[in-house]
Formats: sequence, C-alpha cells, structure tokens
Amino acid sequence: MEYFLTEDQLEMKEIARRIAEEKMRPVSEKYDEEAHFPWDIVEVMRQADLFAILIPEEYDGISGKVVDLAIVTEELCAVDVGIALAFGVTGLGMYPILIGGSEEQKRKYLPQIASGERLAAFALTEANAGSDAGAIETTARRDGDHYVINGTKQWISNGGEAEIYTVFAMTDRAKGARGASCFIVEKDTPGFSFGKKENKMGIRANSTRELIFEDCRIPAENIIGREGTGFITAMKVFDKSRPMVGAQAVGVARGAFETAIRYSQQRQQFGKPISSFQAVQFMLADMATQIEAARALVMQTAGWWMPGSRAMPRNPPCVNTMPRMWR
Ligand SMILES: Cc1cc2nc3c(=O)[nH]c(=O)nc-3n(C[C@H](O)[C@H](O)[C@H](O)COP(=O)(O)OP(=O)(O)OC[C@H]3O[C@@H](n4cnc5c(N)ncnc54)[C@H](O)[C@@H]3O)c2cc1C
Repeated sequence: MEYFLTEDQLEMKEIARRIAEEKMRPVSEKYDEEAHFPWDIVEVMRQADLFAILIPEEYDGISGKVVDLAIVTEELCAVDVGIALAFGVTGLGMYPILIGGSEEQKRKYLPQIASGERLAAFALTEANAGSDAGAIETTARRDGDHYVINGTKQWISNGGEAEIYTVFAMTDRAKGARGASCFIVEKDTPGFSFGKKENKMGIRANSTRELIFEDCRIPAENIIGREGTGFITAMKVFDKSRPMVGAQAVGVARGAFETAIRYSQQRQQFGKPISSFQAVQFMLADMATQIEAARALVMQTAGWWMPGSRAMPRNPPCVNTMPRMWR
C-alpha cells in the first residue's frame, strides 16, 4: 500500500531506497562486523540532500515533516539500521533546536544540519537515568556569561562523530525534572571529551558512546529555551521522533521478510522451493500482514504532525498528560 504518497514523497522514498540498495547493502555486513562509522554513506546522503528532509524550508531544508522522515527511515532501515542511524539520530539531536530553540539558534545550526555539513546527537541518558529521564545528575551551573557543565552521559548514538550535541543537564537539582535544561554543545569545546564506546550486538555501524563533561564552559546563549524547560523539551522531542523508531522497526521487519522470501524461493526440499509449501506460505503471509499493520500505525502516528491532518489531536500525546503548568 502506498498511503496516498505525494509525488515528492515517492521521489524521497525512491532516493532513499536506491541509497540503501546500491550504497549501503554492499558494505552493510562489513561495517557491522568492524563497527565502522559510515562516513562514506553520510557523504552520499549529503549529496542526495537527504539531511535536508529533516529540516523545514525556512531553515534551508526541504521538508521537516515527520511523515517524510518515516518514509525515508523505513527505506534505509530495510537494509541497515546501524548505517541509517547517522541520519536518524541527527534528526533526534536536531529536534530540541527546532522545537525549543531561539530564532538565532535555528538560523545558526539548522542550515548546517540540512546541508549534512554537521551531524547532531541527543544526550539525555546517564548511568542512573534511563527510562527515568528526570533523574539525570549532570549539572549546568551559571557563571556570568557561561554555563559550566559537569557529568557523564552514556549510550549516546553518533557519539564522537557528531559535531552538534543537544545535552540535558540540571540547572536546579532541587526541582527534580523541573530543574532540567537543554544546551547546545559543540564537539571541540574544551572540557568535553568522549569515553567508552559500546561494543554492541547489533547496529554496530553507529557509535554509541559516553560523553564526558569536566568543567565544560559553554556560552550562556547556548541554552535552549528557559532554565527548567529541558524535560518538557525532551518530551516534545520524543513525541516527534518516536514515529521514526516505529519506522525503523517496520524497516527492519521488512528487511527480514524480504530475506525470508528470497531464501524460501531459493531453498529446495522435496524437489521444490520451500516457498511452494503451504505451511511456509502461511508464515510469510502472517509476516506480511503484521508488517503492513505496523506500517499503517506508524504512518497514522507520523500523520498527526501534518498540518490540517484530521488525525491530529488538539495537543500532541505527551502534552495532554503533562501537568497544566508545563503546557
Ligand atoms: C543502541 C542504543 C542507542 C542509544 N542512543 C541514545 C541516544 O542517542 N541518546 C540518549 O539519550 N540515550 C540513548 N540510549 C539510551 C536509551 O534511551 C535507554 O537505553 C533507554 O532510555 C532505557 O534506559 P535503560 O537502558 O537504562 O533501561 P532501564 O530504564 O534501566 O530499564 C530496564 C528495564 O526496566 C523496564 N522499566 C523501567 N521503568 C519501568 C516502569 N516504570 N515500569 C515498567 N517497566 C519499567 C524497562 O522497560 C526495561 O525493560 C541508547 C540506548 C541504546 C541501547
């Protein structure tokens, strides 16, 4: 099913599919085995203007629509989710700026991301703050025209490779989640370094790494929004970025399904390809049904963010459940 895609969307889908098939597939296994960050594929994505799809037109992008990102994400992830993450995580790291940044911050950083000149990363998780994102312990202390950041983030995708990091830190620990703020930290800032790189079971073509902040001084103007709005920014980012996680899962499932189809048509038993046996066909049909149902849910959710969409709730999902004072 094509979900009534526009001509532009069909074109984006085709570009992503060709990059995935022609450029990613030949190196997929090697990059995964060697945990090699795919800079050459990032270059191909840059040249194809793929990063511009992350960003709205007013900041030199070509879309910024969640549904477009879902379409591209599925195509890339059908071949290799690890390589695809260089693109997807740049979107995740960019969202705090797009959602909560000042006009000046948007004009400075979003065009750099749209052109693919700089990758981004999103740094929330810490050793003691995973699902419980409000428990972060990294601090940011105001000191004149600067903030001084101290603490360690872990499991940060694009870690060490991205140049723009959106980092969550406590400006007032006594306030709990309401004391969290979000900051833009650039890669070469003194006091900012990279620690352990995780040796993962999968998606190894993306670096998942510790970020270490030791008296890292950043200009006060790098705060995103006001002090204390970091947690709500993070939740708004998740509202917009979670459909992409769904699209990643649909892509991975589709990739596995296509592999199963190919194998079942090639593997012969009892003098026939195993795809000719009804029991195998039932399994393939069940897989196809579940993937299509998952895709429908992803597209419906991604469509919430389309202007004028009938499916769009008055407030995005997380905002409905937030205390009124934060809305
Ligand atoms: C490959 C990879 C890349 C990542 N990239 C990033 C990144 O770029 N930026 C970033 O900030 N973070 C990143 N993360 C971290 C990720 O967001 C966290 O792993 C996630 O938030 C879960 O935290 P945790 O792993 O500490 O699990 P925990 O929070 O310790 O959870 C452990 C288990 O307990 C369950 N659980 C927790 N709380 C509850 C509850 N209230 N009720 C029921 N069950 C519960 C969880 O579902 C889970 O099964 C990455 C993680 C991975 C694995």
